[in-house]
Amino acid sequence: GKRVLVAGVADDNGFGWAIAKAFAEAGANVCVATWPPALNIFLNLLERGKLDDSRQMPDGSMLTFERIYPLDAVYDNLESTPADIRENKRYKELGDFTIDGLAARLVADFGEQPLDIVFHSLANGPEVKKPLLEVSRAGYLAASSASAYSLVSMVQRLGPLMRPGGAVCSLTYMASERAIPGYGGGMSSAKAQLESDTRVLAFEAGRKWGVRVNTISAGPYASRAASAIGI
Ligand code: NAD
Repeated sequence: GKRVLVAGVADDNGFGWAIAKAFAEAGANVCVATWPPALNIFLNLLERGKLDDSRQMPDGSMLTFERIYPLDAVYDNLESTPADIRENKRYKELGDFTIDGLAARLVADFGEQPLDIVFHSLANGPEVKKPLLEVSRAGYLAASSASAYSLVSMVQRLGPLMRPGGAVCSLTYMASERAIPGYGGGMSSAKAQLESDTRVLAFEAGRKWGVRVNTISAGPYASRAASAIGI
């Protein structure tokens, strides 16, 4: 079967969970990657059976993930990760939680070309509640790093691990092209970057590895992230 990596799954509420489940229902082997600050809670919920209802598949089986990898997509490799993050209690026991680390684990677990599909379902904007007129430079750049460059870095590092004919997909939001009050913190800017980068990455990764790159503009949905801003 095909192997899919869904990055950005930490509960059964968000798009990532639904996407992972849909791929599993279609017969794929599904690995997920989870943000370290949310990883323990997610593993506990799974272990204690709290997600069992959501894990129920139409054929009667239970959704299971081949692997649950730690991933902080703001970091490309451990050498360039600040010491306070590496030594943080939620990170220090996890090994290499960077995008390089994720790529290395996939190769160690499954061989040189472990992936058919990479789904980027993650975003973060620390100042998302602030209108653009009030956003700090640090908040704007953090939104861009977590929500847009994370895709560029993932395609750079996971592209070589993908079988020809593979596909990368991410999720964007209409606030990139129209002014939507409430979608602040530079998140609208980050989604515009994500969409532009998708076109360029599709051109480059298509030629380099035979991999497609797309993004889907999702409608508003009350995930954990979106509930915080009332989208
Ligand atoms: P969600 O909170 O369920 O998913 C976002 C995930 O990103 C979370 O699991 C979070 O832990 C993870 N994350 C945050 N920072 C990270 C980092 N640095 N490294 C790794 N993971 C990190 O919310 P969602 O709404 O399902 O979001 C999934 C995608 O869908 C995002 O790209 C979001 O912008 C997009 N989207 C959402 C909506 C909506 O209304 N919910 C609409 C359009 C697009």
